[in-house]
Amino acid sequence: MANKVTDVMNERMAFSFEVFPPKTEKGMANLIGEGGVLSQLTSLQPDYISCTYGAGGSNVGLNVEVLDAVKASNGVIPITHFTCIGHTKDSIRQQLQNYLDHGINHILALRGDLPFGWTGTGGDLHYATELVAFIRKEFGDKFTIGVAGSPEGHITSRSLEADISFLKQKQDNGADFIMTQLCWDMDQFNYWRDAIAAAGITLPVDVGIMPVLDSAATINMALSRNGCVLPRKLAEIISKNWIFPNPFVSDPYDADVDAKKASFKEAGIEYTIGLIDEYRVAGIHGIHLYALNKYDDVARIVKESGIIDRV
Ligand code: FAD
Repeated sequence: MANKVTDVMNERMAFSFEVFPPKTEKGMANLIGEGGVLSQLTSLQPDYISCTYGAGGSNVGLNVEVLDAVKASNGVIPITHFTCIGHTKDSIRQQLQNYLDHGINHILALRGDLPFGWTGTGGDLHYATELVAFIRKEFGDKFTIGVAGSPEGHITSRSLEADISFLKQKQDNGADFIMTQLCWDMDQFNYWRDAIAAAGITLPVDVGIMPVLDSAATINMALSRNGCVLPRKLAEIISKNWIFPNPFVSDPYDADVDAKKASFKEAGIEYTIGLIDEYRVAGIHGIHLYALNKYDDVARIVKESGIIDRV
């Protein structure tokens, strides 16, 4: 069993899931309870499972509880996401020590999305570059550090070049691997992959993929924060299964909504599998699937795409 995800990535393509801390007790039981989604996901033998962190630290207790459960499942490395906004250096130091005390030594070092109207980060650190430098200064090599990379450029970056230069800075400050932001545009991804290589970035690239299962979630993920390009093929699937009310119609009731949702999901699963194929031949080091705290559809994608050998 590998101790570091980067050891896996240097040897072969890694495969992992991302979950989030549910807000309710029922949701937690469903995820980490006996026979719950987490144990089902670990049965697929991912190399690691990461758990998101609510910016500002609102759900930190639940985040640690989920990661403890990952840690307890044999052989799967737990990775915590961590955002620095709203925290003092002292608070960051304490939280990171707490992760180490729980045996969690992999971290995705992020800045966090600034809530609307904020003019600064509300904390001592301003960017993920600083968080990476801080972790290395305070904790040496105790953490394996992942950082975010945005193939289309971060939504607030002044240019793709500026964004790539900060990614290089994250590498220089001690990051170990890159986890990418959602990107459905393979031409853009391939351009970015070549551009980061030209900039001297040699870190393994772990690609984040959100299964396309629901049209509202897909549109929300693409456009509520990230400004992602929707390729024609994906836009067609949304159009052919359109479920949203027409603002010019007085009675927008659509009797076919359920059938359209089911047909969207089928087409979306096929689309996701095709995307995984394209990424796997693009010279990447890992596929990171947002499991969305679900098993059945995610397992189907994993099995039908052939990411794992079922021996
Ligand atoms: P940064 O790298 O700090 O970049 C932010 C902006 O500042 C960019 O425009 C960048 O170009 C610019 N920049 C970076 N460094 C500098 C510098 N030194 N000087 C000047 N400008 C700079 N959010 C959560 O709240 N919880 C999560 O669990 C979570 N998980 C995520 C997982 C992944 C894989 C990704 C890609 C994102 C995740 N996010 C999460 C969202 C993330 O917090 C936001 O995208 C956030 O807006 C930026 O985080 P970052 O680490 O990319 O920031």
